[in-house]
Amino acid sequence: MIIGMYLLLEEGCVEVSRENKFLSTLTPGKVLGELAILYNCKRTATIKAATDCKLWAIERQCFQTIMMRTGLIRQAEYTDFLKSVPIFKDLPEDTLIKISDVLEETFYANGDYIIRQGARGDTFFIISKGTVKVTMKMPNSNEEKFIRTLGKGDFFGEKALQGDDLRTANIIVDDPDGVSALVIDRETFNQLISNLDEIKSKYKDEVADRRRLDAEFENVELSDLRTLTTLGVGGFGRVELVQIHGRPSKSYALKQMKKAQIVETRQQQHIMSEKEIMGEANSDFIVKLYKTFKDERYLYMLMESCLGGELWTVLRDKTHFDDATTRFYTACVVEAFDYLHSRNIIYRDLKPENLLLDNQGYVKLVDFGFAKKLQTGRKTWTFCGTPEYVAPEVILNKGHDISADYWSLGVLMFELLTGAPPFSGTDPMKTYNIILKGIDAIDFPRNITRNAMALIKKLCRDNPAERLGYQKGGISDIRKHKWFDGFNWEGLVTRTLVPPILPKVESVTDTSNFDKYPSDDDGPPPADTSGWDASF
Ligand code: AMP
Repeated sequence: MIIGMYLLLEEGCVEVSRENKFLSTLTPGKVLGELAILYNCKRTATIKAATDCKLWAIERQCFQTIMMRTGLIRQAEYTDFLKSVPIFKDLPEDTLIKISDVLEETFYANGDYIIRQGARGDTFFIISKGTVKVTMKMPNSNEEKFIRTLGKGDFFGEKALQGDDLRTANIIVDDPDGVSALVIDRETFNQLISNLDEIKSKYKDEVADRRRLDAEFENVELSDLRTLTTLGVGGFGRVELVQIHGRPSKSYALKQMKKAQIVETRQQQHIMSEKEIMGEANSDFIVKLYKTFKDERYLYMLMESCLGGELWTVLRDKTHFDDATTRFYTACVVEAFDYLHSRNIIYRDLKPENLLLDNQGYVKLVDFGFAKKLQTGRKTWTFCGTPEYVAPEVILNKGHDISADYWSLGVLMFELLTGAPPFSGTDPMKTYNIILKGIDAIDFPRNITRNAMALIKKLCRDNPAERLGYQKGGISDIRKHKWFDGFNWEGLVTRTLVPPILPKVESVTDTSNFDKYPSDDDGPPPADTSGWDASF
């Protein structure tokens, strides 16, 4: 047989022998000589045509060039995938390349269970093609609850890499064309990566945490809620302080949204995404959504109540904050953004009205009406946000991504330090024109320190790619900025740092930190039973 050829049998059959000893007969579809061609070694067996044969042949050199090219393309593609996974994203490029070299692509048919809840496993998966659904069996029930859909670039089973081998959810192929996933196991992974401790502590068992929360509210119904007072008024209705029957030591915020008004303003998609993003988020710096309800007229969101009031109210009463106070609140937002951005979620509505103080004085993000989950490396084009906080690329309709949030962080710092946002006109059009002139055209009042000004200017760069937070070092570059020198980030995350302003909250029903709202006598809004909100 010809050395240096790779052969594929199309017709006929061949006999394989070694040292004159018959080994087997091969039929069409078989590939011959693959070992020899890969390693340029001697043929290990003799192959003789037993009938007339038709063979396809490729030279070793040509074969290897093709393999290398496809390998390189594959490696680049896999490395990109890995970068989109939070636990991998901070690893050095060469480590990622090493991991991508050991990933194996595996195919699963529609309906296959890739992971089964409760089973043991030591493999981690990244979807390279198709979609799967995540389901969970709830305690005391046989029903599998649908949690979410995952698609290309999404991953699951990462806890197995960190030594936790009991699966906490089912992953089922939900795609008529099946699913391809890139797979790596714990042993291989551990050989490649020595220091997982940091990663481990950051991404602790979120799914289990969230599951505990969901279970706590599983049986709560709308009729179990007792309304006390109005906390605020949002775009589609009121947010009420409520208590759950039988749980007198706690209170909650119930956001009510008029369905007809959502449809009228075409915000259906935004509301669904608000529910989905808040419902999955599990961070101390984001208001928790416990459960949603709906009836003919309203959608409802049952959330944790933050009785310290809006940061906006505190700012109004104090006119402006000093450096240290601003630093604390900005740091809370940095933590919230880190949580969201590492999951590819852009917030898009930063402003003091959307920052609530909890009873302790820590700040949390609320109102996810404009938040959006982006595909890795993709941009979005919807014009939204509050005029004073909108980034120039949003106004210019150039497409925007998480870097637009860093712009708004600079605007927030300025507003907290001075009491007014930097870019502000008498109407939105004038505001947009001022924004487009850039941060260098803005006068910084004397009370803004040099370091604060430097950070604001680095966040509010016209070019999104130049903004601090969006560089190689990610959001940690903001944490490392001079203005934050000496700030106790660990104390913030562990909640041992004492907040600059301690709100007065006497009881779980004390709403004295909120403005008063007259009762609503508009009468009930129209009913809407068209069904667009089925998955709310
Ligand atoms: P939203 O419609 O989400 O913008 O909420 C409108 C207003 O209701 C907010 O600005 C707050 O004053 C108040 N509010 C919303 N959610 C909560 C909450 N979880 N706790 C306390 N107040 C809230």
